[in-house]
Amino acid sequence: MNGSPEGATGSGTGQSGAMDAELLEAAIREARAGRAEGGIPIGAALFHVDGTLLGSGHNRRVQDGDPSMHAETAAFRDAGRRATYRDTIMVTTLSPCWYCSGLVRQFNIGRVVIGEARTFHGGHDWLAEHGVAVTVLDDAECVSMMTEFIAAEPHLWFEDIGETP
Ligand SMILES: [Zn+2]
Repeated sequence: MNGSPEGATGSGTGQSGAMDAELLEAAIREARAGRAEGGIPIGAALFHVDGTLLGSGHNRRVQDGDPSMHAETAAFRDAGRRATYRDTIMVTTLSPCWYCSGLVRQFNIGRVVIGEARTFHGGHDWLAEHGVAVTVLDDAECVSMMTEFIAAEPHLWFEDIGETP
């Protein structure tokens, strides 16, 4: 009902916050599955704005030997073809890297919900500057999953973000 939804972060709408937490659960399940497979615990899910799950996936660098298979990429590919992504929400356990932030902008995904941005600060400020509605939930489980992973497998983590420890 307001003029522009751009930049909306759900302030004052507790219901939307509860819905975001539910959406995040799908991404967290993917992250746990990835870790259980010996991979990097980052998960993502693409939803329609009405809450319908379109696709989900997790980082598969280790599992597939494929550094281009990030959680967001996996969820995006799992969703298959769509004519438009304006009406979709990319939900991810971790702030999206530049590669995945580029995916969001390339396909005009309207909204991004992020589990946490403490252990890694990717491109979400840049997305918000360009009109993507960004919500950072600062979820405790997402933070602890990444904190434990980085402590246990620092070389794998630094390989994933393209840095040397
Ligand atoms: Zn990425």
